[in-house]
Amino acid sequence: MDTKAMEAAQEEKPDERTARLQSLRSDIACYNGPVKSTDMEIVRPSLNFQELNISPETQNALETKIQLEVSLKEKQRKEYETKWKEFLLLDEPLSFTEVRRFMQLERPNKFPSSDELLTYLENKPQEAIQDAEAHRVEIEGRGGNVRGIVKNYERFKDFKDFEIKRVEDLCHWNKIKSFLETSNLKTKGIRVIVIDNEEYWKNFYGSNPSKSEVEPKTIILKKELFESENISEENLSWIVHEIGHLSFYDFLDDKNGEYMTGVQGRQKYTETAMESIAFQIQVDYLKGLGKTGEQCLTFMRSYVDESFGSDENLDNSEKKLKQKELEQLIRYVNGVLKL
Ligand SMILES: [Zn+2]
Repeated sequence: MDTKAMEAAQEEKPDERTARLQSLRSDIACYNGPVKSTDMEIVRPSLNFQELNISPETQNALETKIQLEVSLKEKQRKEYETKWKEFLLLDEPLSFTEVRRFMQLERPNKFPSSDELLTYLENKPQEAIQDAEAHRVEIEGRGGNVRGIVKNYERFKDFKDFEIKRVEDLCHWNKIKSFLETSNLKTKGIRVIVIDNEEYWKNFYGSNPSKSEVEPKTIILKKELFESENISEENLSWIVHEIGHLSFYDFLDDKNGEYMTGVQGRQKYTETAMESIAFQIQVDYLKGLGKTGEQCLTFMRSYVDESFGSDENLDNSEKKLKQKELEQLIRYVNGVLKL
């Protein structure tokens, strides 16, 4: 193969992907609103054939027609759902219009019980220990102390400073409830883990004060911040962000594993389907509270500063990445606020 042909072959892939993406986008946009299973109940009216006084033949014909309509709608609904899953698996950022369409999709609404969440927390130190042991050679090669790490995690085996509660029982729930309802963000069955131990938090969840887990499907919040009397509206908006993630996991359902494994090496954290949904509904929430575009942008800037650290401590490639992330977040803010 000559160089030109090789180049052409290499270029084929992204083109294919773009074409696939475009066709999925237009297919999704084609549907006249998402079809829901409740629509099918409307198609199937409770006809009283006796009152209608019709012959058994007509009755049969009518029933067949209704049945056919129901199965066509169901087919359409399944098709729409499959297209969406394929689209999300391509992991492209969604526009705000698409986010709103996504919110209308039916989700299985399956969330783990308190017992399952408890097991998850109980196993966490054990898993971390096993993980450190499995990477012993690697850690030692880097000059790290495996024993120290294992000992550190062992301290958390009897960890007790947490609470598992229903999302509706969160401290500031009434401040986000109506937004979630109008955005069609279903929260029934969601349980939240609230952690009141700085050290535990840092060891297992790092620097962000909120986190969503796909397995088990849950939100984990740092108590210090989220149960504080005078939490800022901006910080509160992280709960909306995390609920956006849960909606995403809930919809993908059996495809979560495939998504998480990563269709493409996800370099840019904000530039994914998952984050585009979470960030845009978060901004939409802030917009609903009357925040201006400038206020939202300030919030995003401070978020990027916090997660990357200040510019003077970053090398060039880190600085570039930080700038890219910020640009993406600005795009989200602009999309929601129509700036
Ligand atoms: Zn997120």
